[in-house]
Formats: sequence, structure tokens, C-alpha cells
Amino acid sequence: MISLQPLANLKPASLYFHRFSSKPRTKFKPITIHSLLQYNRKPQLAGDTPRVVVITSGKGGVGKTTTTANIGLSLARLGFSVVAIDADVGLRNLDLLLGLENRVNYTVVEVLNGDCRLDQALVRDKRWSNFELLCISKPRSKLPLGFGGKALIWLVEALKAREEGAPDFIIIDCPAGIDAGFITAITPANEAVLVTTPDITSLRDADRVTGLLECDGIRDIKMIVNRVRTDMIKGEDMMSVLDVQEMLGLPLLGVIPEDTEVIRSTNRGHPLVLNKPPAIAGLAFEQAAWRLVEQDSMKAVMMEEEPKKRGFFSFFGG
Ligand code: ADP
Ligand code: MG
Repeated sequence: MISLQPLANLKPASLYFHRFSSKPRTKFKPITIHSLLQYNRKPQLAGDTPRVVVITSGKGGVGKTTTTANIGLSLARLGFSVVAIDADVGLRNLDLLLGLENRVNYTVVEVLNGDCRLDQALVRDKRWSNFELLCISKPRSKLPLGFGGKALIWLVEALKAREEGAPDFIIIDCPAGIDAGFITAITPANEAVLVTTPDITSLRDADRVTGLLECDGIRDIKMIVNRVRTDMIKGEDMMSVLDVQEMLGLPLLGVIPEDTEVIRSTNRGHPLVLNKPPAIAGLAFEQAAWRLVEQDSMKAVMMEEEPKKRGFFSFFGG
């Protein structure tokens, strides 16, 4: 488990930010914006398929479901077959974000009870037919006794054995917290994307979750820093992405800015990455998906060391 000294003795926020922003930094290096220039090629899929990726955070409300929907659909748009599993049993909402709520007739619970076949529980997206949604249970329903990690391992094996072949990616939207639902959701995963916001409560939970993931044998953990506000970082009211990375010590998959379009798209059931023209957070999710495919990561940059007059692409590292 990564030891996080700063988290052990939390200080008042003002001291905290001062401490981080006053550190001597290495000189700013110009960034090459690779990803935005890469769209004339298909990303190279790294690692064995299906890649089973759990999207987790510890703290609730930091953007796991938003990340699952947007990264999942970005992967589908890049040409990969994707099954997104909503493992947030109590507070299922991935179907709402995807605008697929009216098409979920069966769930994994019915499949396990023998009431329907697996393909009946898979909801194929009409916009991207290589994207399918699978919900564990009906909203507000209780899971059958004994439902746990083994059931999800069975599910992954059943998805691999489908006639049409195994999907390239199985993405699991994890519930908040670190109790049974979390353990169940991470059991079949080989890799994890940890979503955090740049605040101390989210970081503490993220650190705890990192330790639990490592205990479970998941060593490939990358992080997404969500709801980043450059104006607040500049005013030293928010931790910088570099500070977050130094604290958690995880490779950075993406930095997603705070963007009102996220809320609008959530309410419309139309994931951001499908927006035309693209929203800034949508572009950031697309780039994160690209890095996920290639098992790549990005570098955080210090805002105060950036040259003046940088455009909005300054969110994206090289
Ligand atoms: P979780 O699954 O971790 O509970 P959600 O993905 O449901 O979190 O997001 C919680 C809320 O935060 C939603 O209302 C969502 O629209 C909003 N949100 C997430 N990411 C952003 C962002 N980058 N900018 C603005 N709002 C966001
Ligand atoms: Mg959620």
C-alpha cells in the first residue's frame, strides 16, 4: 500500500495548499499535445482481452458513473467492443446516464435465477452497437443472499464464452464505499481506474481504496482527477493535479475539468463524448479512453509554471 504522509496529519486547507504550492518545482517543459493529433490512427490495444476494468473511488459523487459512461462510449467509438456493468446495486444510475433506462428489462439477478438468458439482459446501445449495458439488479431491489464476487467472475466468464466472442473491454461501475458491494465489484477486475476529485476527503478515500485494490491483487491502477478548476488552482483554493499525483503516487489516466455540460448531459441521458461540437470535458474523457487502450499515462503540469495565453488544451498533458 502506498503510504501517504500528508494524509496522516491533515492540516487546515490554507496551510495545506500553501505547503504544496510552495515546493520547488522542476522547470516547465513545453507540452506536445499528442492525443488531439492522433485521431487519424486507431489506438493500439495493449494487454490481454477482455480487459476487465473497475471504475472506483471510495467516496461517492466524484464521477465514477460519469467516467464509466463516457470512457465506455469513447472506447466503443474507437471501435472496441464494450460491456459496461452497473455494479452499483443500491443506487443504480448508469442506465440513466446512458439514456437506456427504458430498455433494461432483465438484470443479472434474473439471469442467475434462470429466468432469462444472458443476451436478454444485455442492452445494446442504438448509437454504438458495440456498446452493451448490463445491470446487476432492478433499482431498490435487494440482492439474493450469497451474491458476491464469484457471481461476477461467473458473469465475466459467460461474457467471454458468448458466440459473438469476448468483448474487448468489460467496464465495471463500482458502488461507493468499501463494503461488500465494493469487494464484489472489484473481484473479477484485472485493472482499476480510480476517480478522485482534488479535495482531501476524496483523496483519503482514494488512498484507502488503492490499498484495498492492491490487497486484492489489482496492481494496474490509474487515476482520473475529475472536476478540476484551473481558476481555483491558480487562486490556491484547490489542489493542483500534480499535488494529487504526488499524494497518491498513481499514473495519471486523465484530467477532467469541471464542466456544466457534464450535468446537462447527465440529465439528458446523452453522454458527453457524443456531443457535437465536443465539450471540453468530453475531449478529456476521450483522451483518457485512448490512454486506457494503449496503457499509457499523462504528465501533470504545474499551472503557475505554464506560459501565459495557453488555450483550454492546457488541461491535457503530453
Ligand atoms: P459517482 O458515480 O461517483 O457517485 P457521478 O458520476 O454520478 O458520481 O457524478 C456525480 C455528480 O457530479 C453528477 O451530477 C455529475 O453530473 C456531476 N459531475 C461529475 N463529473 C463532473 C464534471 N467534470 N463537471 C461537472 N459535474 C460533474
Ligand atoms: Mg455512481
